[in-house]
Amino acid sequence: MTNTFQSRSSGGRRPGGGKGKGKGKGGARTVALRRGGPIEREPVGLPSVLTVGDLAQKLQATPVEVIGELIRLGMMVNINAQIDFDTAQRVASALNWETFEEESAEVVAAEKDFEDRLLEAEMDPESVTRPPVVTIMGHVDHGKTKLLDSIRSANVAEGEAGGITQHIGAYQVETHGRKVTFLDTPGHEAFTAMRARGAQATDVAVLVVAADDGVMPTTREAVAHIRSAKVPLVVAVNKIDLPSANPERVKQQLSEIEVMPEEWGGDVPFVEVSAREKLGLDDLLDVILLVADVHELKANPRKVATGVVIEAKVDPKRGAVATVLVQGGTLNLKDVVVAGTTWGRIKAMFDDRGRKLRRAEPSTPVEILGLIDVPEAGDPFVVFEDEKEARDLAEARSQQKRAEKLGKGAIRLVDMSNQIQAGTAAELKVILKADVSGSLGAISNALLKLNEEVPDGVRLSITLAGAGGILESDVNLASATGSVIIGFNVRPDVAAKRAAEAQGVDIKFYNIIYNLIDEVKAAMTGLLAPIFQDVTDGYAEVRETFKLPGGDVVAGCYVQDGKIARSSKVRLLRSGTVMWEGSVKSLKRFKDDVREVAMGYECGLGLDGTNDLQVGDALEFYHREEVART
Ligand code: GDP
Repeated sequence: MTNTFQSRSSGGRRPGGGKGKGKGKGGARTVALRRGGPIEREPVGLPSVLTVGDLAQKLQATPVEVIGELIRLGMMVNINAQIDFDTAQRVASALNWETFEEESAEVVAAEKDFEDRLLEAEMDPESVTRPPVVTIMGHVDHGKTKLLDSIRSANVAEGEAGGITQHIGAYQVETHGRKVTFLDTPGHEAFTAMRARGAQATDVAVLVVAADDGVMPTTREAVAHIRSAKVPLVVAVNKIDLPSANPERVKQQLSEIEVMPEEWGGDVPFVEVSAREKLGLDDLLDVILLVADVHELKANPRKVATGVVIEAKVDPKRGAVATVLVQGGTLNLKDVVVAGTTWGRIKAMFDDRGRKLRRAEPSTPVEILGLIDVPEAGDPFVVFEDEKEARDLAEARSQQKRAEKLGKGAIRLVDMSNQIQAGTAAELKVILKADVSGSLGAISNALLKLNEEVPDGVRLSITLAGAGGILESDVNLASATGSVIIGFNVRPDVAAKRAAEAQGVDIKFYNIIYNLIDEVKAAMTGLLAPIFQDVTDGYAEVRETFKLPGGDVVAGCYVQDGKIARSSKVRLLRSGTVMWEGSVKSLKRFKDDVREVAMGYECGLGLDGTNDLQVGDALEFYHREEVART
């Protein structure tokens, strides 16, 4: 059984995940001892996640000693439980070890390869023209879906007309012998979700506006998203078949929000279409291609492939199925790819008509089989020659992601400690699932009795007690109510397991009542609120300020004392007065994102939530640290 516990994450170490930004060049982070005398032994390296047993071994301690420290931190764990780096570090510190976070040199190198390939693909001098990738946006009911369907059905070449079209999240059509790729999830949620993950899949955005309805709230929102992504825009004025259609009004309304039609001297092409009557569709495609030509969309097909995941799912028969958009290079059957936290060798590739492919060139959407797990939409992917490198990278990323989840999980025993400290919910909430209703009653009673047995511990309450396996609905309830799930002789189904992982919900399993009660009791007594205090990491002085094109201000700083870290909290001091408190948005040395900058060095710094930085301001960097209770 694997149980996952953590303590409050003291910092904001951000696991690499998708783009691996902010990976320190050095790779290791040294952590000073909280207290205690001189140490003669070497600091010990710890991974981002490890089991209690492994930690004990690394610290040359017995599992009982380690578990004892964890209980002091308010965690009920067994030897197989997984704990995150911050927790392990705290235990190590209590046992007088200095620690640093391990990041293997191989993984750092692989992460760099990944980044380099994405960058290379972006700016390749030998590039050749590639088809544009189009996203359709607009207000609900203005005809986005209909337009996607009509374009697709009108442009399936002769002979293929009977071909079965598949929904794979994207499709390609041909017009005048040229291809156009459409992402067929309409709406800007998908578009913004991709952008949020750093992926830019769209070359041309088509804004659909119904000619009878005009500009609506979502139209305006879509324009804002398209503008901020700096994606070229084409307006499709739809439903011109309707008698009530008023395309001139649409132009008028859009021009008011600075979407100026070309015919009025602006730079936005407008095309009148009827998705239902299939009118104007060729014109729309022509305009899209014209816009694409103006923007000289290029890629080099003679390279290993890079691209982005469009959508992914688990298919009960075929395993993980992902639709990816090849953006650079050519993707081949049997290629080894890394996408987000997963990897695999491509076993089969299909196009949007379900035809088997051996290769896919830039701007081609393909469905691939062979990934060992499901990536997320928006994850960039890169082909690796070396299978081991790919696997190591994906594994390291998924470990980091797990650590990140542990760090921000909603339902943690230690979180409850903090609530107790705040004098609010001094309650350990439990969702109990058991195999037969007989044991359910017995366990519920025994658990509730603990409230009397441990009078000065936290109060335990049962959010839900039910017979049967652990379901996704249980996990959702746990997440919503801040409960821990306890399973007695029952297991979660796949959906529940995934949901628990995604939401960071703890599920604990037992098959002996005594163990269950005993561990919960330990948790209730161990749930002592930790005490926190602020510890200063360092000071910096603002020596210059720069305004970025987006309006944000970054400061050129000099670190005067200690060190400053991206995970630190910051106080902005002007003549000794605290002007602002918050966190670091960006920390750079030259052009590189860094985790830390030490005394005597200069750095570029952006603050999260304020641009009020002035030359001469002082910045105090600090973190909150848990102090041991006596
Ligand atoms: P979405 O919400 O933007 O995806 O809109 P849909 O594609 O689902 O279309 C909404 C409604 O408008 C449906 O009933 C369509 O049949 C209808 N519709 C879409 N395009 C046209 C068109 O060009 N003319 C007319 N008259 N109706 C259309």
